[in-house]
Amino acid sequence: MPSSERGILVINCGSSSLKFSVLPQDKDTPLFYGIAQKLGLSDAEITFHDEQGQTCCYPLKRSSHQCALETLFAYMRQHSMLGSLCAIGHRVAHGGNLFSHSVLINDEVIAQIRGLCALAPLHNPANLIGIRSALELLPDIPQVAVFDTAFHQTIPAKAYTYAIPLEYRELYQVRRYGFHGSSHRYITAETIHRLGLNPAQCGIVIAHLGNGSSVCAVKNAQSVDTSMGMTPLEGLVMGTRCGDLDCGVLAYLARCTKQSIESLYELMNNQSGLLGLSGISSDFRALQSERLSGNPQATLAIDVMIHRLARHIGGHMASLEHLDALVFTGGIGENSPLVRELTVKSLAVFGFRLDERQNNAMCCGESGIISQPNTPVVMVIPTNEEKMIAKDAADIAQGIAL
Ligand code: AMP
Repeated sequence: MPSSERGILVINCGSSSLKFSVLPQDKDTPLFYGIAQKLGLSDAEITFHDEQGQTCCYPLKRSSHQCALETLFAYMRQHSMLGSLCAIGHRVAHGGNLFSHSVLINDEVIAQIRGLCALAPLHNPANLIGIRSALELLPDIPQVAVFDTAFHQTIPAKAYTYAIPLEYRELYQVRRYGFHGSSHRYITAETIHRLGLNPAQCGIVIAHLGNGSSVCAVKNAQSVDTSMGMTPLEGLVMGTRCGDLDCGVLAYLARCTKQSIESLYELMNNQSGLLGLSGISSDFRALQSERLSGNPQATLAIDVMIHRLARHIGGHMASLEHLDALVFTGGIGENSPLVRELTVKSLAVFGFRLDERQNNAMCCGESGIISQPNTPVVMVIPTNEEKMIAKDAADIAQGIAL
């Protein structure tokens, strides 16, 4: 990286993995990116992919997040990138109702993120490990927390409140928070820009479809409803998550199988969704090709997924005054003409009609309108959560440098 070009490191820390990418300021594509995997196991490794398409993978000396970051920083030093690093952006899963924007990380913020661990026991503790290690290793670089939930803090009470007694809602902070905030925020800004919409008077429905999936209704550039709930389990059928499910099913299965709620919760999170429906895979590409060869389980899995998706898109439209665009994004939304075709067919009652040729042309990073003229606009826009996180980190770092 030339010394004049400042870079931002984006870190997404999971319990056994650490994803990273370095973005030059004001550019969309990373200088390099990679992942440290199997952290906590004996064969932990780290992989780097650079701009020239080269990949290299090394075993880690110690199987820890700290060692992964040490190795990453050594790589950056070796490639003369560490000196021009101006900020680090950490993706943090749950900001509860404490964070409606990204913030500079300090002791108070760390304590608040720790206080939210009960709401996101699988994610926030892992995010904190990444934050602590990075602060220890590079204490002089500004570090910023970017919350998956923050964009949805504008959702009105009528949409975020669950119909359970007040004492449970208040005592345990039970409400819908929503996730994929950086993606929905990025797509909102891109849609407004590309269609030349007035941010103060626009209506957009976004279908972010990947391993995790959610729909978001955006009114006047703000999130007003979303399909994920208190946790990322609610809503659409996902790779391994069941999405919406009658709570009675959990109680019934607990009685029938004598399994604990914890073990059934694990089942709903990790063994359900497309994987559970098909018994084949959680990966959409695999299901799509099985469906083409007539596999009935793969066909049903996709049909259930599409039905739920169309139902949520229709439901989310009820939060808008008018619709400027329905936007598909995420690994499946960006790359599967089949999913877009089936979904839009299910929404024909609203007047949606796809242009078949445009729809088929849109994959592998292509973007544009795929609907017929004089029908509601349907678009494909590739998401870029890293860019959003990097932008927040750079803006906040610049703010404190001024
Ligand atoms: P993400 O979580 O956004 O990375 O998306 C991952 C999902 O996108 C997986 O289910 C992939 O199978 C799916 N996906 C990626 N590429 C394609 C493609 N060309 N066609 C259909 N699905 C795809």
